Amino acid sequence: MVQGTVTRLVALPGAMVGMSESELMVGGRDRMVDLPVPTFLIEHPRGLVLFDTGCNPEAATNPLGYWGKIAEYLHLRFTPDQAVDRQLQNHGYRVEDVKYVVVSHLHLDHAGGLALFPNARFFIMKGELPYAYWPERRARASFKLNDLLPTRRFDWVELEGDTDLMGDGSLLMLKTPGHTPGESSLLVRLPHHQPILLTGDTAHIRAQLETLSPSAMDFDHRAGRESLTRLRRIRDLGEARIWVMHDPDDWASFPHVIE
Ligand SMILES: [Zn+2]
Repeated sequence: MVQGTVTRLVALPGAMVGMSESELMVGGRDRMVDLPVPTFLIEHPRGLVLFDTGCNPEAATNPLGYWGKIAEYLHLRFTPDQAVDRQLQNHGYRVEDVKYVVVSHLHLDHAGGLALFPNARFFIMKGELPYAYWPERRARASFKLNDLLPTRRFDWVELEGDTDLMGDGSLLMLKTPGHTPGESSLLVRLPHHQPILLTGDTAHIRAQLETLSPSAMDFDHRAGRESLTRLRRIRDLGEARIWVMHDPDDWASFPHVIE
């Protein structure tokens, strides 16, 4: 099997949101958890890759207007300098430099910046796009049509399942459904460190890898549990370290630039 690596993985800070642990994990306690909303920049010999795009920049200046009531419900804290375009600038990149965007799922805290990259190729699991355009009623507030509509003519590649995105083993997009129909994770092979698996929202907090309890808001709890089991197996076999993207302790403990 080919075992290429990316050149560098950079975690970009974004908004903060707050949710109760009981919503994040079935059986969780009734306490608020502050969750980071990062995106990830990946330097690869074939070009710059972005994993997720964070919240729409307009949600920073007009949260209630752009997100609606869910901005208050999620206790959104988001400033314009935390938007993904500004974060790229901090690392010397322009939005035009991003060649590939990998999308874990289309919730508003992951898909808000899609429209910033009209020239990129987008990778997503099949089923996510149609669901995001017409979700179940209870999930409707989590998808913003305004995040999606400007991207209808973009170069979307809908994948049937696990895919070696660059053909060199360096970036494996894994189908880990449950939170949404097309939820996915990204396994990143690094030159000098153990591979890291970025969970998307397959897990929201680290404790879920122990309890295997899905999130209350998951689309399909049974599939969510199976995907959590898969992540745990990857970790236990030593295939990758797991970075639960919304987990505050993971955000605090992983280095934000890894080679
Ligand atoms: Zn999320």
